Amino acid sequence: DPLLRVEDLVVQYPTDAGTVHAVSGVTFDVHRGETLGIVGESGSGKSTLLRALLRLTPHTGGSVRYRDTVLTDLGEEPMRRLRPSLQMIMQDPIASLNPRRKVRDIVAEGLRIWPDRVTTSVEEQVAAGLDAVGMDIGIVGDRRPGSFSGGQCQRIAIARALALRPDVLFCDEPVSALDVSVQARVLNLVHDAKEALGLTVLFVSHDLGVVKSVSDRVMVMYLGRICEIAPVEEIYESP
Ligand code: ADP
Ligand code: ADP
Repeated sequence: DPLLRVEDLVVQYPTDAGTVHAVSGVTFDVHRGETLGIVGESGSGKSTLLRALLRLTPHTGGSVRYRDTVLTDLGEEPMRRLRPSLQMIMQDPIASLNPRRKVRDIVAEGLRIWPDRVTTSVEEQVAAGLDAVGMDIGIVGDRRPGSFSGGQCQRIAIARALALRPDVLFCDEPVSALDVSVQARVLNLVHDAKEALGLTVLFVSHDLGVVKSVSDRVMVMYLGRICEIAPVEEIYESP
């Protein structure tokens, strides 16, 4: 069975200028343990799709099943309980980190919200999350986000997600705001964390090169629809 099954998902935004058809009936599976890359030009519906899968944006039609649970039918409270398993990494890491908090408290944020995700101890899971992104809690734990680069902030945001021991990591343009020189480092650690922790990853980017470097399969979106979905070695740069 696939880990996620998306069937005929539709997302529309009502606006003063009329209805925006952001996602227009997409159907695909995500297999356990794979990295599925989602690529397409700006406005093709990638962000909307990720947000709708996580119920952060309301869908207009279709269904999303995660394991045995139909997310699109789920009430707020059961959805809230699933959120630690389904973690999201966003484009702008600095905006997502509270500048006044120490790194150790930022990485612990999810564990405070979902205490049932603490299986060993908060301290141990915070240290493990930081370790998974190549950071030592003894060195960075008491520092605050302002003293880190964009790439380091993205690693802290990833550590915060990993401390929850999620099942699926949803990445929305996680390296697009970073210098090219640090992009590869962040991509590598997403890949390494996925392997080490047995994660399933959905990775959205407008950059085909970036998507190909991390993905097992690639899904190409255009105007809210899937125009191709294939193993990464079958996806070619098109002019
Ligand atoms: P991508 O992530 O591929 O850039 P988006 O999902 O952000 O695509 O956008 C898909 C389409 O939906 C675009 O036409 C965009 O302008 C529109 N859109 C996105 N968010 C909203 C919104 N909150 N209200 C209205 N239209 C939106
Ligand atoms: P991206 O393309 O990286 O997804 P955008 O810069 O298109 O992001 O959009 C940034 C924010 O503006 C998002 O929250 C998106 O939902 C919202 N947005 C995008 N297009 C529209 C639109 N046409 N009307 C209203 N909000 C929009």
